Amino acid sequence: MEATTCQKCGRLFMKQGRSPYCPSCGEVDFQNFLKVRDFIREPDNRETTIGALVEATGVSELDITRYIHEGRLIIKDNPGLAISCVRCGEPTNAGKVCTSCQTDMQQELHSLQQSITKPSARAYRLD
Ligand SMILES: [Zn+2]
Ligand SMILES: [Zn+2]
Repeated sequence: MEATTCQKCGRLFMKQGRSPYCPSCGEVDFQNFLKVRDFIREPDNRETTIGALVEATGVSELDITRYIHEGRLIIKDNPGLAISCVRCGEPTNAGKVCTSCQTDMQQELHSLQQSITKPSARAYRLD
């Protein structure tokens, strides 16, 4: 375990898992996430925008975007919540990267894996 500074309150705490927050801020953050998730799941709130969501839940836009980026908040059914794809900048509600970038990245990964597994012509002999 390593000590790290909480990104919310700045207090020093023992890091557990991937959370950038101390246990008390992590708990608040989780409750905020649940509030946001429950709100956008309501059929009446399907068309909600980020502004309306911030107003209804009191959770900041920054946090909401982070939930989406972390893949915790799924906004597939909420077209009004589209965020910019971190790769191409186009609005998307597929998550951190838009579906076309996801396909691109998968193809890139695939060709990368192929080039790694392909028998290499390089000689490893040291003499
Ligand atoms: Zn904290
Ligand atoms: Zn994209």
